Amino acid sequence: MVIILLVMTVSLQHILGRGHQRALEEQLLTNTSLAYALEDSVIRSLQAAVGALQTVALDAEERSKATSNLLTQRLLRGLPQLRSIDVVVYEQASLCAERASNADVLFLPVQAGRYWGDAFRLAELQYWPVCVPYFSQGALAGFVIGSLNMHYFQSLFQSVSASRREVSLYLFSGEKILGEGADFLSSARREVVMDRSWGDLREQNEQGSYLDSYRATSFYPLVISLRSYNKDALANWQSDAQIVRTIFSVLAIAVVLMLVMYLVFRHKRDKVQGSNHLLSMAIRSAANAIFITDPKGRIEWVNDAFTTLTGYSLKQVRGKTPRILNSGVHERPFFQNLWETISQGKSWRNELVNRHKNGQFVTVEQTITPILDSAGEVEYFIAVHEDITVRKEAEQQVLYMAQHDDLTGLSNRRYFEQCLDECVSQRHYGSIALLFIDLDRFKEINDTLGHEAGDVLLKRVAKKLERIAPDEALLSRLGGDEFALFLHPAQQASHIHHLAQAIVDALAQPFEYQDTTFSVSCSVGVAMSDVADIDSSSLLRQADLAMYRAKHSGKNTYRFFDDSMDESMQRRVATQRHLEEAMSQDDQLSLFFQPQVHSRTNQVVGVEVLIRWRRLGEWISPAVFIPIAEDSGQIIELGRWIIDRTLSQVADWRARNIEVGKVSINISAVQLSNSEVAYELLNALKHYKVPSEVIAIEFTETTLMVRSAQLARNLAMLRANNISIAIDDFGTGYCSLSYLKELEANYLKIDQSFVRGIGDIESDECIVSATIAMAKGLNMEVIAEGVEIEYQAQYLAEHGCDYLQGYGFARPMPAADLEVWLEQRKQTLNAEHVKA
Ligand code: C2E
Ligand code: CA
Ligand code: CA
Repeated sequence: MVIILLVMTVSLQHILGRGHQRALEEQLLTNTSLAYALEDSVIRSLQAAVGALQTVALDAEERSKATSNLLTQRLLRGLPQLRSIDVVVYEQASLCAERASNADVLFLPVQAGRYWGDAFRLAELQYWPVCVPYFSQGALAGFVIGSLNMHYFQSLFQSVSASRREVSLYLFSGEKILGEGADFLSSARREVVMDRSWGDLREQNEQGSYLDSYRATSFYPLVISLRSYNKDALANWQSDAQIVRTIFSVLAIAVVLMLVMYLVFRHKRDKVQGSNHLLSMAIRSAANAIFITDPKGRIEWVNDAFTTLTGYSLKQVRGKTPRILNSGVHERPFFQNLWETISQGKSWRNELVNRHKNGQFVTVEQTITPILDSAGEVEYFIAVHEDITVRKEAEQQVLYMAQHDDLTGLSNRRYFEQCLDECVSQRHYGSIALLFIDLDRFKEINDTLGHEAGDVLLKRVAKKLERIAPDEALLSRLGGDEFALFLHPAQQASHIHHLAQAIVDALAQPFEYQDTTFSVSCSVGVAMSDVADIDSSSLLRQADLAMYRAKHSGKNTYRFFDDSMDESMQRRVATQRHLEEAMSQDDQLSLFFQPQVHSRTNQVVGVEVLIRWRRLGEWISPAVFIPIAEDSGQIIELGRWIIDRTLSQVADWRARNIEVGKVSINISAVQLSNSEVAYELLNALKHYKVPSEVIAIEFTETTLMVRSAQLARNLAMLRANNISIAIDDFGTGYCSLSYLKELEANYLKIDQSFVRGIGDIESDECIVSATIAMAKGLNMEVIAEGVEIEYQAQYLAEHGCDYLQGYGFARPMPAADLEVWLEQRKQTLNAEHVKA
């Protein structure tokens, strides 16, 4: 562009230069031709005038005055350049004579006045005398003098001077005839003119450069000069040049403007193209699958991710509709909604299941956006898919995990309760039934055979239940060995009875595991209600209560909920609350002590500590509140209180030298497996300065069925500190012998139910004698509980039972009563001793 401008400028300069040149050439040409034309006119008019004068000069002597006058008048009439013709005798024409030469015509310088001999010589009036000699008999007699009218010549030159040219007429001698400038025919010029009778000269004066064109006339000694100033000659050119320059400038500005606009435009376009390129690259390589369709839904373009996601290349889908991806999963209204939305120019976004080319389902989150043209009509649709198959699967897996039990694959408690809630809160009619299924003695199997066996058992139970459960029922493992079955709508009660019995029967079938056959059973609690009458938590509680009732009724059976169960439950809850209250006060709970005597010597060897609770004047049996305290966990706090009180009592007796023997404290399974009971006991011993040998702890055989790490820690600590261990209620649980041996317990307490049978039930006697024998074999001493009658004591003593405890000797009693009892007994024994 710059080059173009430069070239334009140079050529303009050149053109203008040429124009200048041509203008000057034209000036020269015009000047020359004008000079020529002027010479021609001047010469012609002079020739005519001179001719007339010569006519008069011929025979001027001979002509009469009148004839002469007539002739001159006639001549003058035809020659406007001449004002007068006078025949002047030599003596009177001194002016002519002065200059006379041998030429046949003589031009004099311009004279003031109108004509030869004019009396008024006014400066503004001038004439140009031309003299032609006449002869009389061969001798110069005078001159015919013509007065040339200067106006004539002025007007002849007028046209030329009008064109800003200065015209001058000189005599060869240098005198000026006509014209302004006096400087043309300087002496230097005269030489030039003499040298060459016509020519041009370029000179300069204070008015500027000019061109002088001259012509020396060929017939007369005259020089015509024409001066034209360059500025005049160039005036046209200059105004033309000005116009051209202006046009050029305008053009140049326009060109520059266009250039600038072009550059700006190009810059913008490059930017747009750049970002377009970037965008298209971004879309092409985007991770999300993208396709673009025309307004009819025919695919026009797809990106690489689309091919990866669907298996179709652009070639395979161009011109087709996205229907090729249809998985058949979605119903018609789904797509109708899609089309309705996007044809209104709105974006549509939803989850969509597509089918891959290979037939697999792909779940995507699809966004379809219509692209509108300037008129608001849909031009394209752009569909962007995000492959959420993996996310969906993970979600589903998480959901499944959140709703199902790992082991059995049944729904879990959370999901079960959720379904139950939904059903109960949303349905308003129909009956529902909930069956609570709890395995009996599952812990036992888990503990004896290991967790693996337990897991296998649970899986088989789940399978069996699945087989029995009606199709529409929701079966769930609520946790541990608890299962539940929810039916909505539930059939008649008789059907449910049937179902519950079927479950009990099915689970009672022996189950084989690694060459061994085991039998489990289950207790089932059933709650039935009209859905409108109950909330889910009540339903659950009722089934739970019914299940407890089944358990308490000897297990391996089912029970339907009735209101009395609710009452017993309410009682339990009340007991819990009252116990809490009792533990915070000091006047309701107390410790009783029941002596234990040697079976042969009848000497008191120890006491068992038994807790007592008297509330509002009423005794509440530990057989009632201890299980409740165990359920609620209150037993741990209560146990601490018992230990503290016992040791404080023991310390007191020791201080007062009252001999009670070994003090046995009952410790619950909950305490052993859920608290630092051994550590606490040792601390209390230290605190009351009671040696550990004085203390024994009792816990039931069933406690040992749960083998927790805490239990093992507690037992080890007790043994390591020489605290005796007694196994309580022996014979009611299922403790394995090897475990008993491993445990190294010191005492075995035969349960009172067997003692009661002595002298009555043969099998009980067998059990008692066998137990004693076995205990001996394991190096344990035996204590019999509930000895009430003499015969029992006798039997036990005979069979080697070491110690006896029971109403037959003493009931449990307060410390003070015990002290009295001990004193009395000492005296009686002493008396017997004395007697003996
Ligand atoms: P247990 O440990 O088997 O206690 C013996 C129970 O038999 C006591 O009942 C006692 O009063 C009773 N008994 C003793 N001799 C006879 C008799 O000749 N005939 C009859 N029929 N019963 C006799 P108690 O005190 O009602 O305690 C019941 C159960 O409550 C205890 O059974 C024990 O398991 C629990 N228990 C009592 N006190 C405590 C305690 O301080 N801590 C813990 N953890 N449990 C306790
Ligand atoms: Ca006991
Ligand atoms: Ca007992």
